[in-house]
Order: sequence, then structure tokens, then C-alpha cells
Amino acid sequence: MIAKLKNNEFRITPQRYAVLKVLAQSENHPSAERIYEQLVADYPTMSPATVYKTINLLKKNGEILELEFSEMSNRYDGNKPYPHPHMICTKCGVIVDPPVDDFEKLKSKMMEETGFTISSFRLDFFGLCPDCRGK
Ligand code: ZN
Ligand code: MN
Repeated sequence: MIAKLKNNEFRITPQRYAVLKVLAQSENHPSAERIYEQLVADYPTMSPATVYKTINLLKKNGEILELEFSEMSNRYDGNKPYPHPHMICTKCGVIVDPPVDDFEKLKSKMMEETGFTISSFRLDFFGLCPDCRGK
């Protein structure tokens, strides 16, 4: 991630690096607000604008996947920057990558039977996570 950004003449400041690190290390698809909250204690000069700018740059470079929502903040996946299915809890907002084995097969079948090619997709499943189900 960092090497690619350096090639794009992106100046890696400590703040930007910290945003990158959170995105690369968290598996819970954080929002920009969440990343900011997580970092501001350690980086007092961090601003929400720095977080948004870094996210936009990473997005432009295809280094992260953005999940846009109309009813909650956009969320980001820094581990899998390509389209993949998501399980989304409608109560607490937790987002998980479900294991999917036959997904490529399904895509091939869909292309075959419609004559379309697939360049991108969005596949969200909404429901309750195990924690919220138990409540
Ligand atoms: Zn939940
Ligand atoms: Mn994901």
C-alpha cells in the first residue's frame, strides 16, 4: 500500500500513515469518523479532513473498497479492495466478510446466462449479528 502511494508522489506524513495502518489492520470495516476517533488521542494534530483526504486518495488508487450507505456512514475495507459480499447488522452496524466458496462459479453462470460481462458488483446481506440476536 505504502510503496504504491509513494510511487504516486503521495507524501506519507505520520498522520496519513496512521490512517493507512488502521485501514490495513482492521477487519471491521471502519467509517471515517471511527478512524478519526481511534487516532485522535495518539495524534493530537489529526483532523477529520486528514482522514477524509487519505481515504479519498486510497480509494482513487484502488487500495481500499468503499461501501456507501444512505442510512449510515460509508465504511471502508482495507484488506480486500475488490468487490465481495458483506453481512451487515441492521442493529449495531457491524460488517463482516462471509466465507464464500462458490462465488466465482455463480458469477460465471450469471455471465453465461445473461451474456453480460461483470466489471463490478455490490452484494450486501442485511440482518442481525450473533451479538444482537442474543439480546
Ligand atoms: Zn449487531
Ligand atoms: Mn469486506
